[in-house]
Amino acid sequence: MDRNSYNIMALAPNTSKKRETVCIFGTGDFGRALGHKMIQSGYPVVFGSRSTQTSNLIPKDAEVLSHAEAAQKAAIIIIAIQRQHYNFLTPLAEILHGKVLVDVSNNLKINQYPESNAEYLAELVPSAKVVKAFNTVSAWALQSGTLDASRQVFVCGDDMEAKQMVMDIVRALGLTPLDQGSLLAAQEIENYPLQLFPMWKFPIFLSLGLTAFFFFYCLIRDVIYSYVYEKKDFSFFIAISIPNQICPILALILLALVYLPGVLAAILQLYRGTKYRRFPDWLDKWMLCRKQLGLVALAFAFLHVLYTLVMPIRSFVRWRISSSTVSQALKNTTQPLNTTYAWLSDSYLALGILGFFLFVLLGITSLPSVSNNVNWREFRFVQSKLGYLTLILCTAHTLVYGGNRFLSPSSYKWYLPSAYMLSLIVPCIVLVLKFVLVFPCLDKPLTRIRQGWERNPQYSE
Ligand code: NAP
Repeated sequence: MDRNSYNIMALAPNTSKKRETVCIFGTGDFGRALGHKMIQSGYPVVFGSRSTQTSNLIPKDAEVLSHAEAAQKAAIIIIAIQRQHYNFLTPLAEILHGKVLVDVSNNLKINQYPESNAEYLAELVPSAKVVKAFNTVSAWALQSGTLDASRQVFVCGDDMEAKQMVMDIVRALGLTPLDQGSLLAAQEIENYPLQLFPMWKFPIFLSLGLTAFFFFYCLIRDVIYSYVYEKKDFSFFIAISIPNQICPILALILLALVYLPGVLAAILQLYRGTKYRRFPDWLDKWMLCRKQLGLVALAFAFLHVLYTLVMPIRSFVRWRISSSTVSQALKNTTQPLNTTYAWLSDSYLALGILGFFLFVLLGITSLPSVSNNVNWREFRFVQSKLGYLTLILCTAHTLVYGGNRFLSPSSYKWYLPSAYMLSLIVPCIVLVLKFVLVFPCLDKPLTRIRQGWERNPQYSE
């Protein structure tokens, strides 16, 4: 046997060890799902219920007893019952003395009660050791085995030993315990499952705001202006032309906004000379939703690709091509091939294709099932180095698309520049700042700061 196989054996859980009986109060959906999973992991399970009659929904290897009888059989009791029924535990206080009570409960509203359910349980049974856990895992995910997205189990409690016992069970079930500290953290843990896409709010509201802005901007420039000055009705642009301008603009701006907070954080760290001072709240929050910003950007890039694919079958495009052909035929002329223009158009398409390919790669690597399979360095390489390369390619795609159009006065309708010009502002700022930051005179001190070096240690508080 080689050395590695010893290491593997040391890391594998000791499944041959006899597991302690676990008691679950409540034979409802969650109690049953957890009981089932525990039996699968080798734990003897005893249910404490108001009715000791077993039904075929209850795992067949589990015993069903009265609350008092079941509690006596185990050191750990999982309370799979809603908080409003907890008062039945008060008469059992003597039997529950010194036991570990695991509170798995959730509420219907954020901060529904002045204290967390776990703290309330600890008040009701002060002689027991209360631990909060499992509330962010759903009964359905436990039963169907689709725990990929919710493998993490937040655990908190005042008694270290009790918390450790619960975390051992969590690990034995193939889940990942995350110690959140004392029971004071229970309120926050109870609020997690009630939050509605907390990290998605900023990206979604921002993209809605930008979409509305660019929609009206393009409407004014491309539809209203033509109607007022040329009496032409281009209102059908609303269906494809305008969305196909908005989508790439948003994809590019949002992608740049993924990298802007990192650049701002670097500037702040350089200015402060330390990494130990907290970033302002807005920057912290912005950094936390970078993945969501990137995924929304990717969605817009996808839409841009789809809108672009239908271009050749649009009647407006077909009409333009045929009328140009007819007008050449009538004049008996042939437009010579403009190789500069052909080069520009092919380069613009090639940059778009490559940018989109890397964009998709970034999106794929942000999926938990993929990112769990790469190490930290590989993840950083993809998300940072390839991310910047994607931003460069997409910015170049937009720049080449515009070409020298920005020099022509006809590009400015009512003094408004083309929308694509506006979309270049944020990415160009990000790329210029990043370019400046890679200069050794800034990169070296920044690397040292990120390794823990401080310019003025006494001011780091
Ligand atoms: P449930 O299906 O309604 O089951 C609750 C159980 O509580 C009942 O089956 C009953 O068990 C017991 N019970 C009801 N009234 C009682 C009373 N007056 N006195 C004593 N026991 C009583 O609810 P659940 O979905 O399993 O949820 C149980 C707990 O787990 C809740 O606190 C919930 O927030 C939490 N949770 C649930 C999920 C989920 O996905 N369902 C996920 C995370 C956390 P007996 O008939 O055996 O006495």
